[in-house]
Amino acid sequence: MKVDVLIIGGGPSGLTAADECLRHGRLPLVIEASLEWGGIARTVKWQGHRVDIGGHRFFTKDETVEKRWQEWLAADMIEVPRLSRIFYQGHFYSYPLKLVETLKNFGLVGSVRAMLSYLRARLVPVHPEVSFEDWVSNRFGWHLYRTFFKSYTEKVWGIPCTEIRADWAAQRIHGLSLGAAVLNSLSLKRNVRSLIKTFRYPRLGPGMMWERVARSVTSRGGQTWTQSEAIELHHAHGKVTEVLILKEGQTVGVEADEIVSTMPLGHLIRALRPQPPEEVLTASNNLKHRDFLIVTLAVRAQNLFPDNWLYIHDPQYKVGRVQNFRNWSAEMVGDPELSTLGMEYFCSRGDSLWEMTDEELIRLATEEMASLGLAAADAVKNGMVIRQLNAYPVYDSTYAENLAIVRRYLETLTNLATVGRSGMHRYNNQDHSMLSAMAAVQRMLGDPNADPWAVNTERSGHEEQVLKSSVNTIVGASP
Ligand SMILES: Cc1cc2nc3c(=O)[nH]c(=O)nc-3n(C[C@H](O)[C@H](O)[C@H](O)COP(=O)(O)OP(=O)(O)OC[C@H]3O[C@@H](n4cnc5c(N)ncnc54)[C@H](O)[C@@H]3O)c2cc1C
Repeated sequence: MKVDVLIIGGGPSGLTAADECLRHGRLPLVIEASLEWGGIARTVKWQGHRVDIGGHRFFTKDETVEKRWQEWLAADMIEVPRLSRIFYQGHFYSYPLKLVETLKNFGLVGSVRAMLSYLRARLVPVHPEVSFEDWVSNRFGWHLYRTFFKSYTEKVWGIPCTEIRADWAAQRIHGLSLGAAVLNSLSLKRNVRSLIKTFRYPRLGPGMMWERVARSVTSRGGQTWTQSEAIELHHAHGKVTEVLILKEGQTVGVEADEIVSTMPLGHLIRALRPQPPEEVLTASNNLKHRDFLIVTLAVRAQNLFPDNWLYIHDPQYKVGRVQNFRNWSAEMVGDPELSTLGMEYFCSRGDSLWEMTDEELIRLATEEMASLGLAAADAVKNGMVIRQLNAYPVYDSTYAENLAIVRRYLETLTNLATVGRSGMHRYNNQDHSMLSAMAAVQRMLGDPNADPWAVNTERSGHEEQVLKSSVNTIVGASP
C-alpha cells in the first residue's frame, strides 16, 4: 500500500505531525506499536482509575503549542494547585524550601554541620571539579549536597554522582548558589517560576488530549493503526522505499513519499535495510535510556496527603517519587472511597528492580508506602505495574558524539525525518516533541529553514527554573 506520509509512533510528536500534515492537505498514516495513544504521555486505564506515566504538567512558552492545546482540550484542561515536598531521613521539606523549616528538620547539630561543610567547601574546594559530586558539593557543602542532590540523582540515573560529569551539572544547574537559594527560601528574592502555585492538566490525564488528537486525525481522513510496529525500513539511493510493519501479527509493506519517525534512534538504525556502517550501528547502540516502573496502589482512603507528588530522596527507599493522582484530578480515581498512588521506580531493563515480578513490586511498594507513613499496608486494596521502557534518554559522556554520528548518517536519507524525545534522544517535554514534529512537516512542505534539531524549548523553561529556584534542585526529576 502507498500513503503520502507515514508516521512511526503515536505519542505527542507523531500525533502532532499527523495533525500538521492534515492542516496542509497531506494524508498521514500513523502507526503505533502499543494499544494506546499518547506514548509516555498516555493515560493507562485500570479498574476505573486512570494512571499517568510520571505526572504530566502542561506548561509551554510557545504560542503555537498553547493554541493547539486550547483547540484540542479547551474546557477539559483544569488548573491544579501545586504542592510537592521532599522526604529525607524522616522529614518532609517544603518546596520551595523554607529556611526555618529546613533548619528545624536538620536540628541544631545538622544545621551547624551544614554551615561548617558549606564553609569548608568554600575555603577548600575540590579541585579540579571532575564529577557532579565535586561540582555540587563545592557550591553547597557536603551536607546539603547529600540531602538534596546525591541520593535522588543517583536513583534517577542509576550511577554514583562521582561518575556523572561536572560539566553536566554546570550545564543543567548553572547560576544556582546557596545565597540565591537562601534568599529564595526567605521570599526576599523569589524566582518568578517558583511562585507558580498551579499547573494545568487535562481532567482525565494527558492521554485524554492524545486520544482526542488521534480521533481527530481519523475524522479528517488520516489513518491511525494501533498494535502496528515498524520493524524494517528499506532504503535505496538516499530514500526510504518501503517500511515493513508488524500489524496484529501480519507483516504489511507500506510505501510513503515521506516518513516521520519518533521511534528510539537505536531501534531505527537497527531496522534499516541495508544496515548502516558499523560505526553508525555502534554509535546508536551507545545511545542509552533509563527505564521506569510505576506501581499503582489503590488505597482505601480519600485524603492521604495534600501533595500532588512527593520526592523520596532518602536512600533507604527504592521509590523515587510518589504521585497522588486524586490531587492531580479527582476524575483520575474511579472510586470516591479510594486514592491511587503511583509509586515510581527509576531502573534499567534487566536490573534487580526491573526483574522483580509484579507481585514482588506491589509488595515492595506497599511496604515502602507504609514505612513512609503514607498509609497502612492493609489499606491497599490492590495494585498494578506499568513498565515504561526508554523513559529517559541518558546524557552520558559520549552521547553527544554518538548522536552526531547517527544524525549525519540519517541525513543521507532525504525522505526520512526523526523527531520527538527518543527520535532525537532528547530529554524533553511534550512541547518540544510537538514543535520538532511541526518543524519536520514544514520542512517536508518545502521550508528549508524549518529544522526539528533547531527547536529549543529549554525544557519549557519550567523544570530548569524549578531546578534553580531553590536548593531543591531535583536534578533529572521530571520529565
Ligand atoms: C516520568 C516522566 C515525566 C514527564 N513529565 C512531563 C511533564 O510534566 N510535562 C511534559 O510536558 N512532559 C513530561 N514528560 C515528557 C513527555 O512524556 C515526552 O516529552 C513526550 O511523551 C514525548 O513524546 P514523543 O512522541 O516524542 O515520544 P513518546 O512519548 O516516547 O512516543 C513515542 C511512541 O512511539 C511508539 N513507537 C516506538 N517504536 C515504534 C515502532 N517501531 N513502531 C510503531 N510505534 C513505535 C511508542 O510506543 C510510543 O507510543 C515526562 C516524561 C517522563 C518519562
